[in-house]
Amino acid sequence: MRMTASIRTPEAAGLGMTSQRARDRLVAKLREEGIADPRILDVMRTLPRHLFVDEALAPRAYENTALPIGHGQTISQPWVVARMTAALLEHGVPSRVLEIGTGSGYQAAVLAQLVPEVFTVERIEELLRQARRRFRKLKLENIRSRHDDGHLGWPAEGPFDAIILTAAGESVPQDLLAQLAPGGVLLAPLGPSGHQRLVRVRVDAEGGVQHEALANVSFVPLLGGIG
Ligand code: SAH
Repeated sequence: MRMTASIRTPEAAGLGMTSQRARDRLVAKLREEGIADPRILDVMRTLPRHLFVDEALAPRAYENTALPIGHGQTISQPWVVARMTAALLEHGVPSRVLEIGTGSGYQAAVLAQLVPEVFTVERIEELLRQARRRFRKLKLENIRSRHDDGHLGWPAEGPFDAIILTAAGESVPQDLLAQLAPGGVLLAPLGPSGHQRLVRVRVDAEGGVQHEALANVSFVPLLGGIG
């Protein structure tokens, strides 16, 4: 939607292992692994993922792997971010998207360049603080974030056209389903560690709920309460 000028500063441009060549290699790998949507590939080619991890891990930022971000949490693997984003856009661009599990803020930052409004909820205050700093630095002004237990969603801002969970539960929290607009789509990793599936849930105009398994994935668990 918007490619802000701040994504093109020298710091964001990167050097060596964080250079444009490293990003191009990542995008080539994503394409080989089935990500075809040029809008998503363009955003992932431009967005500086190295600014979403600790400096010590920056040289690994354009590998197709999850990386630790502290507090026992991870920034998702780029392929998973791309796949989830593709599954959200497949049925048209949603106007308002709610993400549960801000983490580093990378998934929210990818979405913010593809949809008009992103809302994101994180239970660990320190991670949220760091993510907000990144959003400000990159001038991603269409992201709103909240420190709360994501099981509750963000009732004051609902309903949402799409909801994306980036932490795995056993089932979809009822409050989240209730905040999904008619015709909306929800994406969630579901199942126990080691056996998770990325599931797309759609609610039709009559209120019927359909589940569709898209891929095997590995996410950190969706926890209760705030940290
Ligand atoms: N989307 C993130 C992935 C972060 S990992 C990124 O792009 O970096 C999942 C995140 O979900 C963690 O930060 C974890 O603290 C958070 N989380 C887990 N349970 C939660 C809950 N109930 N509410 C809000 N956030 C939660």
